[in-house]
Amino acid sequence: MSTATVVGAGPNGLAAAVALARAGLRVTVLEAAERIGGGTRSGEAIVPGLLHDHCSAIHPMAVGSPFLSGLGLDRYGLRWAWPEIDCVHPLDGGTAGVLHRSVAETAAGLGADGRTWRRLFQGPSAAYDSFGDDIMGPLLRLPRHPVRLARFGIPALAPAALLAKAFRTEEARGLWGGVAAHAFHPLERPLTASVGLGIVTAGHCYGWAVAEGGSRRITDALAALLRELGGTIETGVRVRSVAQLPHTELTLWDLAPTALADILGDLLPPRIARAYRRYRYGPGAFKVDFAIEGGVPWQAGAARRAGTVHVGGTYAEIAATERDIHAGRMPQRPFVLVGQQYLADPSRSTGDVHPVWSYAHVPNGYTGDATAAIIAQIERFAPGFRDRIVGTAVRTTPGFAEYNPNYVGGNIMTGATDAARLVLGARPTLQPYDTGVPGHYLCSAATPPGAGAHGMCGAHAAERALRRLRA
Ligand SMILES: Cc1cc2nc3c(=O)[nH]c(=O)nc-3n(C[C@H](O)[C@H](O)[C@H](O)COP(=O)(O)OP(=O)(O)OC[C@H]3O[C@@H](n4cnc5c(N)ncnc54)[C@H](O)[C@@H]3O)c2cc1C
Repeated sequence: MSTATVVGAGPNGLAAAVALARAGLRVTVLEAAERIGGGTRSGEAIVPGLLHDHCSAIHPMAVGSPFLSGLGLDRYGLRWAWPEIDCVHPLDGGTAGVLHRSVAETAAGLGADGRTWRRLFQGPSAAYDSFGDDIMGPLLRLPRHPVRLARFGIPALAPAALLAKAFRTEEARGLWGGVAAHAFHPLERPLTASVGLGIVTAGHCYGWAVAEGGSRRITDALAALLRELGGTIETGVRVRSVAQLPHTELTLWDLAPTALADILGDLLPPRIARAYRRYRYGPGAFKVDFAIEGGVPWQAGAARRAGTVHVGGTYAEIAATERDIHAGRMPQRPFVLVGQQYLADPSRSTGDVHPVWSYAHVPNGYTGDATAAIIAQIERFAPGFRDRIVGTAVRTTPGFAEYNPNYVGGNIMTGATDAARLVLGARPTLQPYDTGVPGHYLCSAATPPGAGAHGMCGAHAAERALRRLRA
């Protein structure tokens, strides 16, 4: 029987482990933290019984993941739940852009911009199921559905700023800007539209779902399936050198490329070692979880029914904050993402006290305290919010890097979302999962298709490793 080691039990590491175990390999997973899950861990933090997602929260990409959706993970406790409204983008004065799962309903609420929204998103989201495979993997390969992919791909090459110009109302421009800002990159740069387009089309197709019982259920389910297939997981094992590894034919690394360069050292071909060492990380995150009595008193009524609220004001404000953080300046009013997962999954609350998830985009390595700025931004669109705070739990930007070594400088995307990384992954190559060391593959979110709890980086890396093993 062939054997494999996977280092790191994030969604990509566990997806890779399951793919290898399903192919008949005996798999061992080594995880540095005491608990598996990487960016999908959840737990209590403020009030007993109140459940918070420590990192990822909203999962259109995981619901639509060609790999995860084929595993029958419901048998291992993974159930998706949807809020009544996917996402709201409030503006000063109480108006808002509202994103529904249905394109038609979203367009109907966007007035003069309804037709543009429909033109941009109706076709791609209706066809997402068929070309999702093409965008959820390496982009430099022959697409299975070239025409459908081109229809999605041509606007995706543009800067998000260019698409923003297609909208006339502040509501639609803000809604688009908030989603596009998930790229953590200046919105004027090429390909920044791709991240927003991917999220909006996946969302219109699958909805902005949350995992019942917390995002941890995604990786708990993968781990249960892995164990059923004979795999084992050891936690509390931080791999710092290859000498620590068991002797297996394959090793898949769910790690940041810079960390892998340190571990593999001279084993790496010099060209690849240089590329991994020079790998760049984008801006950071500063997170505040809240326990809130009675929920957030949003001025825009729709935001009280939404799983996600993008807090940052107009498109112009968001574009400016993204430029600032990229240049290393902390904006006074940062872009803040707010999650109200309890609306879809009431089991996360206790009585009338609810867990509210938020994080701000901040410069990489930011050492200040963004708590007051986050509270002020939410208060701006939800007057009275401050008075409802029962407690908070803060994870600073350096705290993210301690919590998970993959989040270098607090960068939760495992890399800068520039054009090169979006197209190529961690280095310029047609084989983004190969490390150049026989039997060793990179499988983290630094590889295509990038960040998100969808497991597709792990699934593709495992496929590549198996092909080479059997060649
Ligand atoms: C605040 C926040 C919000 C997010 N929101 C969303 C969201 O709403 N939706 C979404 O889809 N995604 C979201 N993400 C991103 C998503 O969580 C990540 O992209 C995803 O978890 C990446 O998976 P991964 O397996 O590549 O790496 P990770 O999840 O980072 O897992 C890597 C694992 O490797 C372990 N490890 C690292 N080094 C070593 C070592 N040397 N030895 C052993 N183990 C090691 C780590 O401890 C970790 O468990 C968010 C992330 C954060 C932090």
